[in-house]
Amino acid sequence: MAPVIGVTATLKEDVDAVAERPLGRYVRADLDYLEGVVEAGGVPVVLPPVADSGAAETIAGGLDGLLLSGGSDLHPGYYGEDPIPELNVTIPERDAFEMELMEHALRRGIPVLGICRGMQVLNVALGGTLYQDLSSQMEGIVLLGHRQETPKWQPTHEVEVDGGSQVSEIMGSRELKVNSYHHQAVKDLASGLVTVAHSPDGVAEAVEYRDLSERWILGVQWHAEAMRGSSPEHRKLFSAHVEAAERHALRRAAA
Ligand code: MN
Repeated sequence: MAPVIGVTATLKEDVDAVAERPLGRYVRADLDYLEGVVEAGGVPVVLPPVADSGAAETIAGGLDGLLLSGGSDLHPGYYGEDPIPELNVTIPERDAFEMELMEHALRRGIPVLGICRGMQVLNVALGGTLYQDLSSQMEGIVLLGHRQETPKWQPTHEVEVDGGSQVSEIMGSRELKVNSYHHQAVKDLASGLVTVAHSPDGVAEAVEYRDLSERWILGVQWHAEAMRGSSPEHRKLFSAHVEAAERHALRRAAA
């Protein structure tokens, strides 16, 4: 059986541009994540961020893997800070759902891949903090363009990956060219996590979990899902996640 990978979705408010009236709120999942999972041999299920408390536990019970997708800022209250003026829009339902889901995913040892916001969510869920806004809070360096305006499939900055890391093993390279669509980033790393890739200006671009358990948790700051066509090596992240989910499903079946 192919492993079931839960992919988090977002909420969007649609507006009728002509009549300028709200059309309602919709659950939206970027097809690129879902196709990335399918290509890797997994079965994606979209997880709507509308669940009541308690549902996240049931949902986690049905997953072999969890993919935390990109999106809006995580509310800084989850790491004990008040919002600064440079914070962008947050979606309370999504933040609450993903943080609860992470708690149950961690408890169950479900392999987690975090992409962009997803890497930030997993760091906070494990006890870390974020830069609410890189350009106003990360001092002393010249920031690269982490918020590109070119198409999403185009790389915009380089990333240096630590040798011996899972990310270098998965990608088969220590030098990557990646896209960049973020104004937040990992600040204080959660215990258990290791930063394994940096952009030349020192921003954390990938993290992975290392402890004595075989827990598979990996986050990348770039949108790997959008680079699958232009730079196929980024598909390997999805493959590694699906393989970890397969191993987890086998362990679960044997238990
Ligand atoms: Mn970047």
